[in-house]
Amino acid sequence: MFCYNSVVVAMLEPPIRDPKFEALEAAIDELARDRLGGQTAGLGDRRRHIRRSIDRLEAEFADTLSRFAVAQEYLADNALSTVGWLRRECGLSGAAAVQREEIARQLPSLPATWAGFRRGDIGFQNAAVVARTAGSAGIEAIQRVDNILADSATRLRPEQMRIVAAHARHCVDPDGSLSDANANHERWRLHLSQTMDGLFVLDGVLDAEGGACLRTALEALMPPRRDSELTPARRRADALVELARRSLNSGELPTAHGVRPHLTVTAPMATLQRQPGSPGAELAWAGVIPAETARRLACDASVTRISVDAAGNPLDAGRSTRSVPPAIRRALILRDRGCQFVGCDRPADWTDAHHIKHWADGGATKLGNLVLLCRRHHRQVHEGGRPLRRGDDGTVESVPP
Ligand SMILES: [Zn+2]
Ligand SMILES: [Zn+2]
Repeated sequence: MFCYNSVVVAMLEPPIRDPKFEALEAAIDELARDRLGGQTAGLGDRRRHIRRSIDRLEAEFADTLSRFAVAQEYLADNALSTVGWLRRECGLSGAAAVQREEIARQLPSLPATWAGFRRGDIGFQNAAVVARTAGSAGIEAIQRVDNILADSATRLRPEQMRIVAAHARHCVDPDGSLSDANANHERWRLHLSQTMDGLFVLDGVLDAEGGACLRTALEALMPPRRDSELTPARRRADALVELARRSLNSGELPTAHGVRPHLTVTAPMATLQRQPGSPGAELAWAGVIPAETARRLACDASVTRISVDAAGNPLDAGRSTRSVPPAIRRALILRDRGCQFVGCDRPADWTDAHHIKHWADGGATKLGNLVLLCRRHHRQVHEGGRPLRRGDDGTVESVPP
């Protein structure tokens, strides 16, 4: 109760009058009033000016912060550190507070970078990159390349600056760069957990090499940007699943108990035939999936029929057969060459063979009843409720809802 009250009192305290800040506030008020007559011309210049002013203010903020930290003034405010004080008094997040504390601690010892930052020639983000580099390599090492970093920081964007800073760091501290890389390698982890709703959640950390390896593979498999309704995050997720699917299909993954790893769906025939009242299907590792998803997966799969007695106990298992035998698949690829959904140009190796009339409903595994569909459109046809039919001229078309 006491703490709560004391905070309220602090917020009601009028700010200390200072003519410099009154002038600054007045300039901002003037800027806010000046709407440029509603015109958009000149807004770019205005944004650049505002950005430069913000960066210069950040530099002044860093200057007061460095003196504040040296004098340990935060102790007088009952904070345990500068970062703690920044979080409490300036409403910064932990990461934002750490970034500013690091700039204040490192940059005053780098005269060229510090001067460029305070003049407004070096932006806040680049200043943060230099401070981070000094934090990892040690200030003495980075002082030797201060002029190079300051010059680069006035010209480069932050993502370019990070590369230059990493090179500079490697020049003056190769052992440190290697030991950082080794430490990052030890941080590898990947969590893959399933929520109560059946969704899988991924969370992980990779070092530069591991991340680049995954990124390269994902970029190769990401659906093209022109599928503009898909966000980059969604396209990346599609690519990751495609990567796993191709690994499973390649037959190059190690076997377990003499069996190649594969997705296993178990479903009663009644479910595949969508008979009313039938249960869902089961996908190993994932749990219960809808009948229509099982039908899609069964469209192009290895199928094993198991007879069960009235109590559901297995009596006999038939041989596994491909729902689309290899010879028919080859002919299908020769005919269709890629996804046959209207407007789609995904090539054959991105596709599944789809039974227009499902084999579980008595559809034949013949070319006339088969069509190549990419994963996305195959899903749209099944789970999305957009079934296909073959028109009189042999082309495939969506059945109107
Ligand atoms: Zn299908
Ligand atoms: Zn398609």
